[in-house]
Amino acid sequence: MADRPLLYDLSYGQLQALLVGWGEPRFRADQLWRWLYASLADGWEQMVNLPAGLRQRLAAETELTPLTSMACQESANGQTRKLLFRLRDGETIESVLMRYTDRRTACISTQVGCGMGCLFCATGQGGLVRNLSAGEIVGQVTYLARQVQEAEPRQRGGTGQAHPIGNVVLMGMGEPLANYAATLQAIETLADPRGYNLGARRFTLSTVGLVPGIRRLAKEALPINLAVSLHAADDGLRDRLVPINRRYPLAELMAAVRDYVDRTKRRVSIEYALVDGINDAPEQAYELARLVEGLLCHVNLIPLNPTCGSQWRPSPRERVDAFRTVLEAASVPTTVRMRRGIDIEAGCGQLRRRQAASDS
Ligand code: SAH
Ligand code: SF4
Repeated sequence: MADRPLLYDLSYGQLQALLVGWGEPRFRADQLWRWLYASLADGWEQMVNLPAGLRQRLAAETELTPLTSMACQESANGQTRKLLFRLRDGETIESVLMRYTDRRTACISTQVGCGMGCLFCATGQGGLVRNLSAGEIVGQVTYLARQVQEAEPRQRGGTGQAHPIGNVVLMGMGEPLANYAATLQAIETLADPRGYNLGARRFTLSTVGLVPGIRRLAKEALPINLAVSLHAADDGLRDRLVPINRRYPLAELMAAVRDYVDRTKRRVSIEYALVDGINDAPEQAYELARLVEGLLCHVNLIPLNPTCGSQWRPSPRERVDAFRTVLEAASVPTTVRMRRGIDIEAGCGQLRRRQAASDS
């Protein structure tokens, strides 16, 4: 790993302290911050209002580029693009760009691998390698935003929106609440009005259910969206599918989620991957409806995205429909989401695992 500090890793205050320490006037931090996050500059030569001497020193003593693209796959319909990035220490992560008619969404990673070991998840099968730094999380968004700008220069994201990437979902590789500080710093950097200026409501953080992290997040005055990956409504099954349930069982998890909603007044998403014959019976839907009764929530049913090496299959259409019908009859707002980009293995961790297999 290069030991020069990564500029994206610095908060605004830290960037200002660095430049003031070099004898620069304070407004230089504002100029540089704008280059990084409003103009999305990826080369020193672009920063034309910075003195040449300062640019040289920045180039010599800091690092601008957190990651480089190693592979890219586009779905057949062109709406989903998946990128494999190499980090400065050679580790790899994935990000996905999703194009909808009115917006562009980046699905980004927060860790290299993941230590949570969920049985159906390609990332979980490889274990945790390391946390990403704040700058490595931010860098995925700025990279994808540049790609959108290049592909759709005039319309700015093709949508008339101010941001080439208008939504950020922390649903790539890793468990964001297991890398709490870097994840929060990355959100703050991207939300900073002096730079990328993406409102906190444009972020969705998906967690496997780390209770202390949910409780801590509830106390931040940050109106981001929370998604909880439930996948089972009884402890016996959830212990198997999502092993961290043994540490934070459903009663504790749901109490924390209810407190989160009470404090933030924000609707939570409940993610539920439907696995054929495992968690998709009507009785299990009743159980889920009971678990979320009275909770301000929205259930997303996602037919499992099969990963290589697993026997599990996505629930067939009829079982998905029956499951949804039970929830809707219980007045639980429910959407069935087809995973984007199944044909490019855009499920979490799949491209990276394939690359690793072909490297060895
Ligand atoms: N660690 C966090 C965020 C990353 S995983 C979490 O677990 O929430 C993002 C989402 O993808 C989670 O809801 C996870 O349960 C889901 N997921 C992982 N593997 C999947 C698969 N094979 N099919 C469908 N969803 C999957
Ligand atoms: Fe980690 Fe989320 Fe995958 Fe579980 S589903 S192993 S928490 S990335």
